[in-house]
Amino acid sequence: MNKFNTIFFLAIFSLIITVACSGSPDVMDTAIDKQKELDAAYGKATSEMVNDAKAKTDADAKTKADADASKPIVKMINLSTKYSDQTLQALVDLSVSKIADRKSNIIAIAYDIGANKGNSITDMPFEEHEVLISKDQIKSTINTIRSFLENDECIKDLGEEERKGTIDGEMERFTEWLEKGADATTQAQACATTRVVFNGAPTTQSEEDTLKTWVHELYHALQQDIALEPPAIDSWCDEEASQKSGWLVEGGADYFAQHIYAEYKGLNGLDEIFKYGLQSFNESGAGLYDGGIARTGAAALRLLVERGAVKHDSIIDGSLFQKCERVSVYHDNNPDVKIAKSSWSEIQYVYGKYSFKPSALK
Ligand SMILES: [Zn+2]
Repeated sequence: MNKFNTIFFLAIFSLIITVACSGSPDVMDTAIDKQKELDAAYGKATSEMVNDAKAKTDADAKTKADADASKPIVKMINLSTKYSDQTLQALVDLSVSKIADRKSNIIAIAYDIGANKGNSITDMPFEEHEVLISKDQIKSTINTIRSFLENDECIKDLGEEERKGTIDGEMERFTEWLEKGADATTQAQACATTRVVFNGAPTTQSEEDTLKTWVHELYHALQQDIALEPPAIDSWCDEEASQKSGWLVEGGADYFAQHIYAEYKGLNGLDEIFKYGLQSFNESGAGLYDGGIARTGAAALRLLVERGAVKHDSIIDGSLFQKCERVSVYHDNNPDVKIAKSSWSEIQYVYGKYSFKPSALK
């Protein structure tokens, strides 16, 4: 792909995700090694071992610092007045803790927006809203995102012209979104392993919708292969094929978000998927693309899991989105995919329990 095509591809694909996301609502790095603490305490208390203990403590601290330094960054900027840092961070930490092999540096921005002003935002399916964050907050956020991009290894590796173009182009649209109170719920792929998550949430939106969207967009940032292109990914994961697999990208994000939110709230993630799948069917019919693709896609993905064609764990740990299997395996000619796309809505609610009708599982 030449440079123009690359940018075009990323723009189109990110647009697909954004459109799909905007249509529907859409941790533990610091775990303390208790044994090491005890070892260190014991060493300090034993005078003849002081030097050894200190050496060990230093070595442990260095090992931990090295491990932390090598992990991709997940940074949050919370400008929301509705949701605490604690709540949003807990969801970030819980999400990140599930992922098997993280590659991307992520910065995620949450902010409130007020009444819709009805004006379109440039090149995006967003609209202008009353701005509820201060000019200083916008300025500081812009500076933080720019610095994040400038210090990112993937972006540093781009040629000078492309690097400058990427950073300036991204910052221009991010600035517009913040200054115009855009209802931006999206994940921007600034580079293959550099992702920027936006969650501009109307203050009137329910807690459930805002927090699920927060996790949904974060999952997109954790889906490795959606920002890869040949030769980094095999050539069969081309533009056309990638566009066709949008339902799986969206369904995966919703599947994950329903489970993470459910775990956070003490609910059942599977029930949430069935409940909203059935709701989509009742509102929009059995077409996979007729309702919000995220919710219908999640139900289709669940059907693939129950048919034994996809592993639940591969969705939750993100490994389903590392090698473009959404194109190489789960393409439209896959018999299970055909059934999942046509039968995702065959959901029943019997005696207080959701399940797929037996006909969908044959
Ligand atoms: Zn999405």
